[in-house]
Amino acid sequence: MNQRTHAWIAIRAIKLLKDEGKTENLVKLLEPYLRKAAIGAWIPDKRDAKVGGSRTENHIFKIKPYQGDSEARFILKRDELIKHLGPERKLPGFLEGYKNILTDEWWGKAYKADPEPGQHLANRAMSLAINNIDMLILGDDQVQEMVPGKIDFIEEVDESTRVSSGQVALFFYMLSHFIADSLMPCHCDDRDLADYANGLHKELEGHWGKKVGTFFEDDNLSKNGLEADEIYEKAIAVDGKFSLSFENEVPDLKSNDVWWEIVVLCRGSFAVASIIAPPEKYLYKPDPQIMAPFETLFEQDQQGRQLLEEVDKVVIHDAVLNVALIWKYIWSKFKK
Ligand SMILES: [Zn+2]
Repeated sequence: MNQRTHAWIAIRAIKLLKDEGKTENLVKLLEPYLRKAAIGAWIPDKRDAKVGGSRTENHIFKIKPYQGDSEARFILKRDELIKHLGPERKLPGFLEGYKNILTDEWWGKAYKADPEPGQHLANRAMSLAINNIDMLILGDDQVQEMVPGKIDFIEEVDESTRVSSGQVALFFYMLSHFIADSLMPCHCDDRDLADYANGLHKELEGHWGKKVGTFFEDDNLSKNGLEADEIYEKAIAVDGKFSLSFENEVPDLKSNDVWWEIVVLCRGSFAVASIIAPPEKYLYKPDPQIMAPFETLFEQDQQGRQLLEEVDKVVIHDAVLNVALIWKYIWSKFKK
């Protein structure tokens, strides 16, 4: 996903939490920094970020068939995945709808990702989630007022070393980036067809970016003089381009585990990638690799165009919902 899409997802997630009305102070904390979303949500892909933070390929979970020790550990049946995801996400419906492409046999096999040290998408998301909890604990007076409960030792921590609400917002946006990336099918598929410059990945992200529109580009978002409500209005106007309607309900993180949640989401995204480019034609490694360009998959016939619409909807809807869900989970750690 490109910068404007990441920024839009973060802003739309705040609006979703606002409409749900259950994490009022979290919304209050983030809302003054809506204009900073394009920066915060884009830092992980910025090329000049320091070691461990830069470039698309630095946070991935590229899954492939697995044969080896403890194979059973790497099998996740469709029914189990659907049960885990629950009814609020769009992915279960999508997987049901394409049962003919991914058979029970496909779901019965083991699949595994093997990211390089430091690039593991679920590790990146989990570490930031924990970090964000710590930032809220160490917040300055303004942050302390927002966060439920009381931190006993906070008076002993010098105000000048405490975390400001702007810093909290920036790090929440950064976390949103990793969550959203776990919904991007190409980040979760080890085949060459999913690489950035091989005709599908970049094009799919460009397609989403076009729908999101230039307002959410940093130059426009950071410099406009609009009020929060006007920015939300612009964000909601994008819903229709993806045929989205949100229920304004954000489920709890039932797994109570950000790491596992991201792994499961990536596993779902690998299934989406395998529906987009079915493995009987586009073989997994180490078999010979065939590319699956955007035009071939999505622009040649009505079936392809319909598939694209459904992919748009499931990826973008679930990206927003999962960002809101994990942010809400972080907030739920603080109880009065
Ligand atoms: Zn990224």
